[in-house]
Amino acid sequence: MAVEIPFRREFTFEYGRLEPVAPGVRRIVARNPGPFTFRGTGTYVVGSGEVAVIDPGPDLAEHVEALLAGLSGERVTHILITHTHRDHSPAAAALKTETGAPTWGFGPHAGGKRGEPGVEEGGDWDFVPDMIARDGDWIAGKGWRFEAVHTPGHTSNHLCFALADSSILFSGDHVMGWSTSVISPPDGDMTAYMASLDKLLGRRDAVYWPTHGPAITEPQTHVRAFIAHRGERETGVLESLAAGIGDLDKIVKRLYLGLEPGLWRAAGRSVHAHLIDLVSRGIVASEGPPTLDTRYRLLRS
Ligand SMILES: [Zn+2]
Repeated sequence: MAVEIPFRREFTFEYGRLEPVAPGVRRIVARNPGPFTFRGTGTYVVGSGEVAVIDPGPDLAEHVEALLAGLSGERVTHILITHTHRDHSPAAAALKTETGAPTWGFGPHAGGKRGEPGVEEGGDWDFVPDMIARDGDWIAGKGWRFEAVHTPGHTSNHLCFALADSSILFSGDHVMGWSTSVISPPDGDMTAYMASLDKLLGRRDAVYWPTHGPAITEPQTHVRAFIAHRGERETGVLESLAAGIGDLDKIVKRLYLGLEPGLWRAAGRSVHAHLIDLVSRGIVASEGPPTLDTRYRLLRS
């Protein structure tokens, strides 16, 4: 029986408008809809008068202008970055120029180490945080305080931000309501992602606000469904290998029947991430390094 993920895709907003979504929290959605961004990047503003901005978004001048217009008379004191994909961090540069606010993040994309060209996509290699936030660090401004929660997996530098005294977690792309997260090696890491899902199960946050799409109001149920879903995928990969199918492309075709062609590549990355994880756990062997085009075989089930 396939795992049912309780996806949430009802999403009401107006492009270019900074709108209140929860007490002390506003959001403006950038006009960059797509297969990986849903309706676009949701940039959050926390506080009033002196505010923090979470994920300024893609390099899109109209988005930064609309954000600043919505914040007229207020001051941005902190720019927080969940991770360095190009739909999240590039606008930090323009926002910093306009406001002088420092940026906070875990570190540069992929620790600054570039993977093979053509494999590592979508990274904002230019972003370097002014201030480093590690797991458990607190970032405080006027009337608000965040705990940084390191949640590697989608990227190695992914942070969620827990807003103190609110039970809100800004979950970035680690946990989203509208879709599963893309885990794309080399920077995407399935082993780390699963550990980061477990980490959230140990917390008491009551509502998640992801960067794309609506809030998740039953986060524990949602996280458990994602864990079960990946477990099911892993079983599918192991069954393919047990049936003698050892090429990544063939495993993807077997597991993702009916998938839109535009998403094949992402599905391939996800299966690759599972295979790397299984190799590291000693369950699967690869002929040479566990790349996209090597052959894989089952060592034990
Ligand atoms: Zn991302």
